[in-house]
Amino acid sequence: MLVYNDQYHKKQELETIEPGKIRMYVCGPTVYDQIHIGNARTFLSFDVIRRYLVHKGYEVTFAQNLTDVDDKIINRANEQGRTAAEVAEEYSQAFIEQMRRFNILDPDIRPRATAEIEAMQEMISSLIEQGSAYVVGGDVYFSVRDCKTYGIVSGRDVDQLMVGARIEENEDKRDPLDFALWKAAKPGEPSWESPWGPGRPGWHTECCAMIHRYLGCPIDIHGGGSDLSFPHHENEAAQASCAWHEPLANIWMHTGMLQVSGDKMSKSLGNFHTLKEVLDRYPANAVRLLMLQTHYRSPLDFSFERLDGVAGTLERLEGSVTNLRWAASHASGAGDDDALDAAVATARAEFAEAMDDDFNTAGGLAAIFGLMTAANTYLDDAGADASAAACTAAADALVELAGVLGIMLGEAAGEALPEELVGLAAEHAGYAGDSAAEAAEALLAARQEARAEKDWARADAIRDAIAALGLAIEDTAAGARLKAKEQ
Ligand code: AMP
Ligand code: ZN
Repeated sequence: MLVYNDQYHKKQELETIEPGKIRMYVCGPTVYDQIHIGNARTFLSFDVIRRYLVHKGYEVTFAQNLTDVDDKIINRANEQGRTAAEVAEEYSQAFIEQMRRFNILDPDIRPRATAEIEAMQEMISSLIEQGSAYVVGGDVYFSVRDCKTYGIVSGRDVDQLMVGARIEENEDKRDPLDFALWKAAKPGEPSWESPWGPGRPGWHTECCAMIHRYLGCPIDIHGGGSDLSFPHHENEAAQASCAWHEPLANIWMHTGMLQVSGDKMSKSLGNFHTLKEVLDRYPANAVRLLMLQTHYRSPLDFSFERLDGVAGTLERLEGSVTNLRWAASHASGAGDDDALDAAVATARAEFAEAMDDDFNTAGGLAAIFGLMTAANTYLDDAGADASAAACTAAADALVELAGVLGIMLGEAAGEALPEELVGLAAEHAGYAGDSAAEAAEALLAARQEARAEKDWARADAIRDAIAALGLAIEDTAAGARLKAKEQ
């Protein structure tokens, strides 16, 4: 399979350091506020990359940090009259909650910067000893000019960077390109004791020390948004190169920016929507579907009109799975299955081909929709004779492939029928078993019977009891069935 390595600006065959295993790291958020959907796009992209690698059979170890000490957190705490630790804890929890709501898998390892100070100090000491860093007052700086590999991640040239570099406010730095590994504490700021006096780590230091500690260098894949390529990832790589004489990562992957009317979505521009706000209004499946229609490296234009537009697509996909399952359990099964079986095989092959080409999720979705269309045609043609085996295989393929993209359909979405149906069926239909699916059938049959006998009161009582569970009765050509009520 091909993966685009941003370090070399080209796709390359995926070769892992250890056979069958992948160690990957994606820079996590600075926890001072709710994340916006631009941030979420980056985290979603790597969630899908991870899911697909697991689907391919790789054993993936995924680490993501929480940057829980930073100027932005300290400023927010000061504004609100709280401690930085309180702010960081609140937004760490908020981040984890919204990621789960967005159906993003938890990382295997989630280190917090404030719990890793020792590993960072060890790395800084080593850099000082090796002449790659120097102490000025209580600050420690990384000496960019002394790093022979500087520029390898982002392809930048140190001399050209110098031309563009602003003369910084801090006159103590030997070179404007140097960056802080350790920042001396200012009054009222959170700080830790260190050989250079009380202070806190620089942002670039965190990820590098955590990667080394938890995954070892080099790792297979290091990811983040394209805005992190320089200077953040460049600086991370420079530290690893000078501290341990190892590359930090073999493959660098960067996602394109989510934009609004052509501008990058960002806190500073004020053109943002938080993930929470969007997930309060739209299901995670819809937001994922919209975002995955664009390749992860391309910019993505976000608008609520586009998001509204995918709702119908998602409904058709969900409907297709429901109809296939329904046909599988209700049709005679006498019909031919070749056409649908072939469509399933084609969809699986096209999905793999697209995703093997640098995670082309738009192509993966096209394969899923191709199968959906073929399945709908098959159901229309086969009618009551549909083949149960073929319908089940098609429904399974739709659920599985969409699931690789984290789009949960049917049973995978946890839309099983509620257990309360068993009690209702006992009351209204004399049902004595304990299966919600059987209870649903018994209730529908009882309502049908009541209607046939023109016992409208009983028929309505059954319908109302079902509605009270948030379910609606849908009358189809093959009989009635229950489905979740539209909200
Ligand atoms: P931050 O908390 O600012 O470090 O951002 C967390 C992640 O979101 C980083 O990987 C950023 O590159 C990424 N990011 C920030 N803004 C956007 C955007 N508009 N579109 C996509 N990713 C973004
Ligand atoms: Zn990082």
